[in-house]
This record gives sequence, structure tokens and C-alpha cells, in this order.
Amino acid sequence: MTAELIDGKVHAAAVRAKMRDRVAVLTAQCGQAPGLAVVLVGEDPASEVYVRSKGKQAAGAGMKSFEYRLPAHATQEELLDLIERLNTDPQVHGILVQLPLPGHLESRHVINTISPAKDVDGFHISNVGMVGTGQDAIVPCTPLGCMMMLRHYYDDFRGRTALVIGHSNVVGKPMARLLLNADCTVIIAHKSSTNIPELARLADILVVAAGVPGLVKADWIKPGATVIDVGINRIAAPEIGEGKHRLVGDVDFENVRDVAGAITPVPGGVGPMTIACLLANTLSAFCHQLHLPDEELLLED
Ligand code: NAD
Repeated sequence: MTAELIDGKVHAAAVRAKMRDRVAVLTAQCGQAPGLAVVLVGEDPASEVYVRSKGKQAAGAGMKSFEYRLPAHATQEELLDLIERLNTDPQVHGILVQLPLPGHLESRHVINTISPAKDVDGFHISNVGMVGTGQDAIVPCTPLGCMMMLRHYYDDFRGRTALVIGHSNVVGKPMARLLLNADCTVIIAHKSSTNIPELARLADILVVAAGVPGLVKADWIKPGATVIDVGINRIAAPEIGEGKHRLVGDVDFENVRDVAGAITPVPGGVGPMTIACLLANTLSAFCHQLHLPDEELLLED
């Protein structure tokens, strides 16, 4: 069997097109476009790339994009002041603080200062708690993107077993909660788990977010399973030139694709969906703040 490729670029393009259409209609209707503020502290090159890309895609969807840059030595107070200003700015409907922050800043406190209604990353403790208790809330972008792709394969998660490898607050835990909220049977494994291959063989759905290149092997896979590879790992690639690197996921893609039913590639799988879901979250936040119907933007097909 060769697995069907789950093309994140195609899924993301469809989400973006839908966002563009809805943003155009709502902007005309309300006389105001959804606004996304992205805050970057310091000059981490990877963060710079992400921030640029988020701003560009928001603008491409017809949203207003605001970028705020603070120097690496900015104080906690300066950052909190900026967030408080954005919380009350009527042009800003979504606020994202690019992580990781420089070490002297307390990320948890910073994130919890963002108004939960504008927390388009879904990391505020109030949104985390609401998702954890199965209530409507802003859902973190990466697991939301995974869930949207999985919905193309599963109308109904009841009776299915999923294994989520990784239990970070950003990916693994919210992913497991979303699957559980959909009545999937969910197993969570992490770096202290000792029997991951056996657990994986039970899984109809395998979501891997460990940050370990090639962790998941072909003989872990239940034939026909759907495999979502969240991992992004930069590894040396001397075969394409001295000092060159390439991106790989957490799954041994070439061998696993012979056993799985469907699989996301890296790059071009989960990554593109993450930013598309940020736009979806921003539009959803805009709708809530302007008391517009949100039309179930996110988890439909
Ligand atoms: P993290 O380091 O916060 O968490 C890693 C998790 O994996 C932990 O729960 C840890 O216990 C588990 N883990 C580590 N080694 C393991 C092993 N050998 N076996 C089983 N579990 C193991 O990382 P994160 O932020 O959750 O990100 C995970 C991966 O996903 C990274 O590669 C990251 O770059 C990628 N990522 C991708 C996107 C995207 O948009 N595609 C978004 C976020 C993160």
C-alpha cells in the first residue's frame, strides 16, 4: 500500500480562500477589517521569518496586519504595557506574541495578559481551560490545523483510537483534547513512555509532535492508519551540498508511507495549515467581538 498524501498546502489554500471571501463580505458589511497584531521581542531569525509570513498572509486575506517589535532587552513591564494597549485597541481583534521570548521574560504571565477574546494562539489559560472542558474557545492553531485535515478522513471519531506522541502545551495536549472532545479514544505518549511502538500499533490515527527526526518507524504503524507528522527538524544534508540542511518530520516518511493509509509530508503538511488556522482564529475573534455569527468557520470541511 502507498499512503495517500495529505497535502497541507492544498488544504491551507482552501482555508485561505474561504477566509478571503468571508473577510471581504464582513469588511464591506462592518466598514472595518479584522486586525491581527503580531508582537516580536528580539531578533531571533526563525521568529522573524514566522512573523513576516504571518503578517503577509493576514494582509493577503484582506486583514489588517500590525507588527510590533521590541528589542531583546525590553522589560516585562514594557511588553505588558504594549499588550494592554492592544487589548483595548478597537482595530486589533487578534494578538499574537511570537514565542519563544527572551529568557528574562515570563512567557506564561505575558500570554495570560492577552485578552482571552483576542488570544488567537489559544494559549491563554482561559482558552486552554475551555477547550479542556469541551467548551467553545479559541483553539491553538497547529492542533486545529491537524484536526481540520483529519476531518477530511473521519466524519465520526467515535470508535477510533488515536495515539498522540508528545504532550507539550502547544501541540500534544490540545491535540489530544480536541480528539477526546470528538469522542475519539485517545492515548498520549511522551519521552518517558516505554511502550510507544505497541501503543502506536493500536492507533487508527497517529499524531506525532516530538521533535525527534525519524522517530516513528514503519513497523509501529497499523496498516491503513492516518499519520499526521507535526515535527519540524532541521538536519544536515551533505548530499545536497556542503553545509546544507533540510527539513524532516518525526516520521520515517519513506517507509511509513508503505503501511499507512494517509500521511502528511514534511515540509508541506501541518506547517502551512498552522498559519491558515491563525487567520481563521483571527476572523473568528473578529466575529465574536463584533457580535457577528461565526458560522462554524473552523472545524467544518
Ligand atoms: P516540545 O519540545 O515542547 O515537546 C516535545 C514533546 O515530545 C514532549 O511532550 C516530549 O515528552 C515528547 N518527546 C520528546 N522526545 C520523545 C521521544 N523520543 N519519544 C516520545 N516522545 C518524545 O515540542 P513542541 O513544541 O510540542 O513541538 C514538537 C515538534 O513539532 C517540533 O519538531 C516542532 O518544531 C514541531 N512543531 C511544528 C509546528 C507546525 O506548524 N508544523 C508547530 C509547532 C511545533
